[in-house]
Amino acid sequence: MDRIDLHTHSTASDGSNTPEKLPFLAKDAGLSAVALTDHDTVAGLDAFLSACQKVEIEGVSGIEISSRWHFPGEVHVLGYFVNPADRGFLKRLEFLQNARSDRNGEMIRKLQSLGIDITLAEWQREAGGEIVGRPHLARLLIEKGVCRDMGEAFGKYIGTDGVAFVPKEKLTTVEAVRFIREFSAAPVLAHPGLLKLDTGTLRDFLVELKDNGLAGVECIHSDHNEKMTVKLLELAVRLGLAPTGGSDFHGTPKPRVRLGIPEVPGRYLEGLKQSFSGQLERGF
Ligand SMILES: [Zn+2]
Ligand SMILES: [Zn+2]
Repeated sequence: MDRIDLHTHSTASDGSNTPEKLPFLAKDAGLSAVALTDHDTVAGLDAFLSACQKVEIEGVSGIEISSRWHFPGEVHVLGYFVNPADRGFLKRLEFLQNARSDRNGEMIRKLQSLGIDITLAEWQREAGGEIVGRPHLARLLIEKGVCRDMGEAFGKYIGTDGVAFVPKEKLTTVEAVRFIREFSAAPVLAHPGLLKLDTGTLRDFLVELKDNGLAGVECIHSDHNEKMTVKLLELAVRLGLAPTGGSDFHGTPKPRVRLGIPEVPGRYLEGLKQSFSGQLERGF
């Protein structure tokens, strides 16, 4: 079977492999296509796509945007076939990233007010890339001897119940879907199984997103069990959404997750392209 992976992260966000290296790993894993879907950034795409050409694997340009909806937790929306050279798109992304950096400053101020010797510059240095995320901050807190491990860093300080936690300024999920659409890319709801919604609520949510331009649903994902995968595949067919899938490979930050696992059939990429171009023809 022709196998693909439509969900991976590089050092441009919170993965441990460079965008140049991922296509080589994907080729080694026997995949015919791989997508790079870093959190809120397309900074890795140029390097990723040229490495894909070099190893002769189909590279899909993507992004994963964080959003919020009426239930707790983040809702992630994948965007496929984004154009990393689109200036308008980059400008809007920059705006989202600025909202994130204000939040980071506020978290640092909270930690300082608890008597912890820490600065935003140290956090940025620890991150080393464009995305400065909480896992990097947790690592810094461990290095400084403030916490023993990630669990303590998140539980006590920077997780949603932590004393230094500051919520993110985020788009709503409908806004994220429209944002991706606006720049002629295909929005796909990421790992819906993690939302822990009952079937009725999930169906209504998907219908609402489809009305706003959603093209597909990530049915296969490393955090979905078989029951969830089957349920999502059924829902996708019933609602006329393209099923997609990917590992959500991060490298060392998520050592359990391997590139290309669970297996995703290559025809899903063709299906997404078709359903997306069909929507474009209908004037979405
Ligand atoms: Zn995600
Ligand atoms: Zn992801």
